Amino acid sequence: MQIKNIIFDMDGVLHRGKTPIPGAAKTLAELRKRGFRIFFLTNNGEHPREFFVERLRGVGFEAHLDEMYSSSYGTARYISENFPGKRTFTFSRGMQKELEKNSITIDNSNKAEVVVASLDVHLSYEKLVAAFQAIIGGAIFLASNEDASYPVENGVLKPGAGAITAALEKSTGRKPTIIGKPQPYLLDIIIKEHKLDKAETLMVGDRLETDILMAKQEGLKSCFVLSGVSKREDIEKYGLNPSFVLGSVAELPETLFPK
Ligand SMILES: [Mg+2]
Repeated sequence: MQIKNIIFDMDGVLHRGKTPIPGAAKTLAELRKRGFRIFFLTNNGEHPREFFVERLRGVGFEAHLDEMYSSSYGTARYISENFPGKRTFTFSRGMQKELEKNSITIDNSNKAEVVVASLDVHLSYEKLVAAFQAIIGGAIFLASNEDASYPVENGVLKPGAGAITAALEKSTGRKPTIIGKPQPYLLDIIIKEHKLDKAETLMVGDRLETDILMAKQEGLKSCFVLSGVSKREDIEKYGLNPSFVLGSVAELPETLFPK
């Protein structure tokens, strides 16, 4: 099996909250040394992508901005390409920052022309009301991702962007356009920008219905790790067949280069 490029999901794969997965930084360093091209693809839309680079570096990983693809960045690209000039409603400050960096006009009122649902740990009912009113008034409805939950330290889960998206879907009766995985929008940007061959690309993720499903639908090889959200028993439930199933990324080098 010829693998030249490896795309890593982050939460539950490289770290959980602020704690790195044991052995993950060493794995990444070894893969770089062996010449693999490394990319990061996270559904997290809570912060601009510089934040994610800093967070990885802060817990001992080598990471670069041109390797980092987050749903916040994807949302900025999507709006710039499809709805340039439209006034956009955001939930988190980090998403707002990413959009502003890409010259998108922010309008966090019920008069916005585009609404971006994403994770907001300071969610308020007032914000939901404004987003709801903008959507029923005809705004374009986007969502950074639909992850129901995300892992933090000590096996604890918290409600994800999908919980906020669902509140708006339920109340408005409208379905959003999803930017993050399993949709291939960001993957296609990575493949195109770096001229990669999908058949030579491995997606490493902890979530079957996003990371591994996208890999299957897009013809990537996949490595499912058990250090995050999904469980081994879930593989059958989703009818998926990952190329590798590992306890964590620490086992990836010995899997790719058996002695
Ligand atoms: Mg994950």
